[in-house]
Amino acid sequence: MSVIKFVIIGLGGMGSYHARELIKETDGVIAYGAYDINPEQLVKATDLGLKVYDTLDAVLNDSDVEAVLIATPNDSHKELAIKALEAGKHVVCEKPVMMTSEELAEVLAVAKETNKVFMVHQNRRWDKDFLIIRDLYQSREIGELFQIESRVHGANGIPGDWRHLKAQGGGMLLDWGVHLLDQLLFLVDSPIKSVAADLSFVLGDEVDDGFIAYITFENGVKSIIEVGTTNFIKLPRWYAKGLEGTAVVEDWDLSGQVVKQTGFIDHHRLVPIQAGQGLTKTMAPPSEEATTIFPLPDGQAEFTDFYRNFYEVVRENAEPVVKNTEVARVLALIETIFEAAETKQVIHY
Ligand code: NAD
Repeated sequence: MSVIKFVIIGLGGMGSYHARELIKETDGVIAYGAYDINPEQLVKATDLGLKVYDTLDAVLNDSDVEAVLIATPNDSHKELAIKALEAGKHVVCEKPVMMTSEELAEVLAVAKETNKVFMVHQNRRWDKDFLIIRDLYQSREIGELFQIESRVHGANGIPGDWRHLKAQGGGMLLDWGVHLLDQLLFLVDSPIKSVAADLSFVLGDEVDDGFIAYITFENGVKSIIEVGTTNFIKLPRWYAKGLEGTAVVEDWDLSGQVVKQTGFIDHHRLVPIQAGQGLTKTMAPPSEEATTIFPLPDGQAEFTDFYRNFYEVVRENAEPVVKNTEVARVLALIETIFEAAETKQVIHY
């Protein structure tokens, strides 16, 4: 196995994680060096066993380096990617891949010209909570899923510095939104039909601190995608309705359940319950004979799969798991969400 040597460009939070965990744990790739415009960040490079580069040119001129990982603020991805590709390096780029679809098209054109691999780290395709929902979608265990709600809720506002700035690609739609939208489009095998959205500015930043998007698909699936950073009580990570049941994944701890209709609901035998100041049969819990509670299916994932696939793409011409056409589709959807929120219009495809 001839190993692919990576230099990490941007040794901040995520760059360090790639060096320490993701690249380190995968056969065929090694974290070889690091470069950061802030030399203070490079102090930890030595602890991580990385060669320190003082300039970007030094990285790009080093023929031992076959690939770079770009883990810098979002506005710098394009320039770094183009320089690296033109220097003959393969590129793994953090999400969101670029600030706009035009930028992405430019980078992909350079990747094509230089015949180098450009792959985006959409790592949350391997999240177990997502794989549980994907399993339910594909197996039809609770019938066809027709409503999918995917949320991440935090209460700590927007962390860090550049994530508050529009010019640097800050805001939650680009940050967390890109993950949830990537998962959704990877899951639902149908063209988008319409998009409505609302951004939130509770914190008074120039960028969104959260958003809600309503996305419908031609196959009838309706989805709600929501990111919040001022939610002191969270809603479940996933809520999915199928024609024969409902599933909830509460959190990344994978707690939750599937409730499936397994018997006949006899409307004549429904007993009303007291609800507030009234009675209801409609909202009474389903009868025990008519439903069964199941544990969530097991979402199997290896967190080394991304870099293993990258290795196979570079060395064996394998199909990338994260395809640039998919990444481009997600970026276009983000642009549509911004437009829908700004114009307060439902955008029909
Ligand atoms: P960070 O602020 O912690 O680190 C960014 C680093 O890049 C800093 O050390 C900074 O000095 C350096 N830097 C800035 N401009 C540079 C340049 N031109 N050349 C070299 N170094 C430069 O940010 P972060 O949280 O690590 O995020 C970095 C990227 O990773 C972003 O694109 C972010 O969206 C992405 N990210 C992805 C995930 C994920 O799960 N896939 C999670 C977190 C962050």
